[in-house]
Amino acid sequence: MSEHVRVAVIGSGFGGLGAAVRLRREGVTDFVVLERADSVGGTWRDNSYPGCACDVPSHLYSFSFAPHPDWPRTFSGQEHIRAYLENVADVFRLRPHLRFNSEVKTMTWDAEKLRWGIETGTGFLTADVIVSATGPLSDPKVPDIPGIDSFPGKVFHSARWDHDYDLRGKRVAMIGTGASAIQIVPAVQPEVAHLTLFQRTPPWVMPRVDRAISGTERWLHRQLPFTAQARRGLLWGIRELQVQLFTKRPDQLGMAEQLAKRNIARAVKDPELRAKLTPDYRIGCKRILLSNTYYPALAQPNVDVVASGLSEIRGSTLVAADGSEAEVDAIVFGTGFHVTDMPIADRVVGADGRTLAESWKDGMKSLRGAAAAGFPNWMTIIGPNTGLGNSSMILMIESQLNYMADYVRQLDVLGGRAALDPRPAAVDAWNRRVQERMKRTVWNTGGCDSWYLDANGVNTTVWPGTTTEFRRATRRVDLAEYEVLRPSVPGESRRGKKATQDKRVEAGA
Ligand SMILES: Cc1cc2nc3c(=O)[nH]c(=O)nc-3n(C[C@H](O)[C@H](O)[C@H](O)COP(=O)(O)OP(=O)(O)OC[C@H]3O[C@@H](n4cnc5c(N)ncnc54)[C@H](O)[C@@H]3O)c2cc1C
Repeated sequence: MSEHVRVAVIGSGFGGLGAAVRLRREGVTDFVVLERADSVGGTWRDNSYPGCACDVPSHLYSFSFAPHPDWPRTFSGQEHIRAYLENVADVFRLRPHLRFNSEVKTMTWDAEKLRWGIETGTGFLTADVIVSATGPLSDPKVPDIPGIDSFPGKVFHSARWDHDYDLRGKRVAMIGTGASAIQIVPAVQPEVAHLTLFQRTPPWVMPRVDRAISGTERWLHRQLPFTAQARRGLLWGIRELQVQLFTKRPDQLGMAEQLAKRNIARAVKDPELRAKLTPDYRIGCKRILLSNTYYPALAQPNVDVVASGLSEIRGSTLVAADGSEAEVDAIVFGTGFHVTDMPIADRVVGADGRTLAESWKDGMKSLRGAAAAGFPNWMTIIGPNTGLGNSSMILMIESQLNYMADYVRQLDVLGGRAALDPRPAAVDAWNRRVQERMKRTVWNTGGCDSWYLDANGVNTTVWPGTTTEFRRATRRVDLAEYEVLRPSVPGESRRGKKATQDKRVEAGA
């Protein structure tokens, strides 16, 4: 007989570990965390490139229930964030629940038994509920460049850094100018022979107010925890106010553009290079990046900025769309992730036999960023329209954990074998509201093409409001937004509709 658990959590980054802590706090101990890698950490395990650090201050980019008074810097580096998550796994006694090297291959809804069948790399199990925390930025995207197979040198993605390959003295091409690339460029520029940066669109880059957190501050945070809470509150409050400009008043972002232009001018004296690096879209449309070292690195004599995307590779020659060429020994792709086409969606098979990817073929859609119609008792952490452009994703994850906790509680209240399937009308209503608000935001009106938009140009990734609004919207599960399913008995429809209706009357839904 196969193993059965109440809840299967997939992924052990902030989302999956947070779900595990929350489940234990809710008194649920019958759960597993399935992780394809061999340790926890998600983003902060996989991204180990030189210079990798968060761009939201650590006192905000951490769990509210696991404060860390000893953050060494205002913006901590990857190794500290990874160590923090390892520590969360220990302190909250999550280790017995963790199953490493357990990549989830498929999740299939069993409409008769009202549970999920989960095929992993190491075996099969069933679960009443799945919490999918596989991360929006966990599957690297490498563009299909003609001729890439002819390249004789080294090729890797920023999220799969090859630490055995020594970049020192090499001619290196960096493809892309996103959040990872602007951290990698200044970290490797001093040691490579030559660096060619292929830039399709320049990012807006603001100064980074990064400094070591002093021993006194840390002592204070340890002795008087409310000082750390006040610090977190201040960081959060500033961003709650800031986001109003992005969501409601993009026209007022001009002053921020002036500051960012001054940041370029301070470091880059060559007018031609300065022109290449100056964006022509509204600041905030793409994620605003923070760095004090990016522009100074680009101004060094061993760096060339090609203001055009990579279009072809001929042996060791990289050819840009504008025809310029560069000879290189190694290519680093900083080209982002499969965000609006996340691979996990191909692996979930719902009530009518369709995959989530098929159901989302015209764009990702969910109820309150968590649940998808036709996929009962399945929820995702950081689902559609839950991303942030300016604040900590941990705030959004924690709101989703509130929703998850209430979801499990509601199933308990319903009693017996039951499942919740979002009503298509509720999903549509939620998405209409989100997209209506999105119309005014800088992400939709700022004149850029960003990874926030899907193939149809629809913004299915960002939350168009404050984190407080999202927290309010996800505090509780509204049963009226769900169909309550009960196991079908012979003679009934596959989804047990009649029993569902009977039970909804009982539940007063
Ligand atoms: C370089 C980088 C910097 C970032 N900096 C910031 C920042 O400063 N501030 C911010 O708010 N956000 C930042 N982010 C976004 C970041 O991804 C989120 O903040 C957060 O870490 C996401 O956590 P998660 O648990 O949802 O996903 P992840 O951390 O990506 O974890 C997902 C986990 O799921 C596992 N998994 C995936 N598929 C499967 C499968 N089929 N079976 C089993 N396991 C699977 C993965 O191995 C991984 O461990 C950054 C992202 C990157 C890539």
